[in-house]
Amino acid sequence: MSVIERPQIRFTQLFIDNEFRKSINNKKFPTINPSTGDVIAEIEEADKDDVDQAVSAAQKAVELGSEWRTMDASQRGRLLHKLADLMERDADYIATLDTLENGLTITDTRHSLKFGVELIRYYAGWPDKLHGKTIPADGNVTTITRLEPKGVCAIIIPWNAPVVMLSKTIGPALAAGNTVIVKPAEQTSLSALYIASLTKEAGFPTGVFNVVCGYGPITGAALSEHMDVDKITFTGSTSVGKLIQQASGKSNLKSVTLELGGKSPLVIFDDADIDEAVNLAHFAVFVCNGQVCCAGSRTFVQEGIYDQFVKRSVELSAARVVGDPFNTNTVQGPQVNAQQLNKIIELIDSGVKEGAKLETGGKRIGNRGYFVEPTVFSNVSDDMRIAKEEIFGPVQQIIKFKTMDEVIRRSNNTIYGLGSGIVTKSLDNVLTYSQAVKAGTVWVNCYFVVTPQTPIGGYKMSGFGREFGENALYEYIEEKTITIRVDNKNS
Ligand code: ADP
Repeated sequence: MSVIERPQIRFTQLFIDNEFRKSINNKKFPTINPSTGDVIAEIEEADKDDVDQAVSAAQKAVELGSEWRTMDASQRGRLLHKLADLMERDADYIATLDTLENGLTITDTRHSLKFGVELIRYYAGWPDKLHGKTIPADGNVTTITRLEPKGVCAIIIPWNAPVVMLSKTIGPALAAGNTVIVKPAEQTSLSALYIASLTKEAGFPTGVFNVVCGYGPITGAALSEHMDVDKITFTGSTSVGKLIQQASGKSNLKSVTLELGGKSPLVIFDDADIDEAVNLAHFAVFVCNGQVCCAGSRTFVQEGIYDQFVKRSVELSAARVVGDPFNTNTVQGPQVNAQQLNKIIELIDSGVKEGAKLETGGKRIGNRGYFVEPTVFSNVSDDMRIAKEEIFGPVQQIIKFKTMDEVIRRSNNTIYGLGSGIVTKSLDNVLTYSQAVKAGTVWVNCYFVVTPQTPIGGYKMSGFGREFGENALYEYIEEKTITIRVDNKNS
């Protein structure tokens, strides 16, 4: 066991045109330590005027003839590799910034940093491999396509895994030759600001990478309504995703990628190895304090093993070590803020009122910081709020089912469609379920295996567009068609 030292805070100002600056209107907002409720630091808050400055910096940097625009694609790749090297060099420090602000355990944030670096490296390999096509068009013409950057990309990210959210979006956007303006969540600005300093150290030209901090309805809205932002990528709640889409429609129809909420089913069949399945289902819900959009938060268990499954899941949850996220023994830190804490407790109370059986947990821990007991419900039915709404906390719903047809219907009985999973030894079950479930990802005998190469995205109200892997690059690319008339007498 060791307790990691709290970090010194180095950057709290906006990052525009490769320099840290104060906000024009001298506004600041506090960032809070969820382990204690205390203020960590005051961060400069960007409003519309600051956003305008960031947009014009990013616009200038992506103009025809700019240093960034004329740079060899292979050199863009080298800059991304350099950024990955610097993130790796300072990984332990950056991890402490996220642990301090969002309460994820130091083990989780170190893991996130490693994954963030892998994402940047994956995209660093792409810039000089983004080929257009030659098309055998009808008539006396030759048609080719050119893959061009969209331009200025606004990236609005949530607080739950700040470095992964940043890396999965800036990686493909920069690889494709765009410039970016990152708006971190107001709860977690520090790691994005530190990484901004690393982009400068890596040698990215002025204006390519910018960070504007602040609240969603002010800073985020200024970006999503902006007439000179060409692309917006948003990861967060479905309700805000709708606002982003509307803002695009009301302004310049900027291209939108949305990765939103989920209520993902994980289906355990009778033939599963019960110990493995219990561990997997536990991990699928409780990983990262339960604050994961793909969390397998509806655990469907076939009736033959249901009672035993509930008993073992309760034992696992009750044994979780909750506490100081800087202690390497801790597996669950605090929830990110008071609002999330209250929402989780309110949903747990609704589960009890609606008749689910509270097997373990269910309460806030102490009265300092935002800690919640790991919680397990059994006897959950589909109409209960805990089975329908995204809880985003350490709360497992174990639901009994009998047949494949029934579990397909019930899995799909949701407004969401982000993740899903199945645990079984039967290939027939795997094929039947994975074809029928309406979700962007199906994990078979595993859960939450996310790699830089594999696309992730949603069906239904979990959003649209695909991130990670090659697909993500095309979210940031315009394909231009060039048709050339040719004299065909010699062809
Ligand atoms: P969560 O529910 O996980 O806190 P939100 O969807 O509220 O997620 O927030 C995710 C990100 O969206 C944050 O960076 C937040 O500041 C931003 N945001 C919130 N409201 C808006 C808005 N109206 N316009 C643009 N961005 C917003």
